[in-house]
Amino acid sequence: MTFLADNFRAIEQRVNEACKQAGREPGSVNILPVTKTFSTDTIKMAIDLGYHRFAENKAQELKEKAIELEEYDQLKWVIIGYLQTNKSKEVATYASEIQSLDRIELAKALDNRLQSAGKSIKALIQVKTSPEETKSGLEISEVPKFLNELKESGIQTLDLQGFMTIAENTSNQDAVRKCFSDLRELAERCRDITGLALPQLSMGMSGDFEIAIQEGATEIRIGTAIFGDRDYKQGMSERI
Ligand SMILES: *Cc1c(COP(=O)(O)O)cnc(C)c1O
Repeated sequence: MTFLADNFRAIEQRVNEACKQAGREPGSVNILPVTKTFSTDTIKMAIDLGYHRFAENKAQELKEKAIELEEYDQLKWVIIGYLQTNKSKEVATYASEIQSLDRIELAKALDNRLQSAGKSIKALIQVKTSPEETKSGLEISEVPKFLNELKESGIQTLDLQGFMTIAENTSNQDAVRKCFSDLRELAERCRDITGLALPQLSMGMSGDFEIAIQEGATEIRIGTAIFGDRDYKQGMSERI
């Protein structure tokens, strides 16, 4: 318990410091704890510390944890990993947000399930800003077309709030920074094109969130810096 409280406090302090340095309001960056591979006992400790919104990268794991923690009725689950279309039901049922929206088939499949469930969820478009082969998401150049397809589809159950990206996994800080600034610039262009507010920029993880904050992140997704190292053999479907 105390190690978690200490880690949360340390991250909050670093976020505040990064905001100050960037001339931003400390409250303008939200911390999204990433709980993939960690147990519901660990999540309960985070709940006791006042956190209620958690991210998972697999639909099945999200579902299982949501069911195990059903008694906490104010919990919100966010899916941040590549989502197979046939896993739409799990997300429509148990998540309040998807940050890995990357194709129109998925949007339509989610819409179907969400309409049946009579609910809507928030959605961020995942954009591939990194040159690495393994990273998922839409290419920057594909995003305007995708926004148009979404509009044409008339989907009402996905509340489009902005964009998510994973920066290049490199010690080259300039390359990391470019991923984040590319996403910010893309968001600015898309606001002009669509007239939508698209306020959310989900970018920055344990190793690079200070740079993301400098480049305008509104939300950072933090796993290992809060919960410790993951067991990669068990939990990871893609290399992050
Ligand atoms: C695992 C994961 C994170 C958190 O990564 P850490 O380096 O542990 O902070 C953030 N975003 C996505 C999409 C992830 O899959």
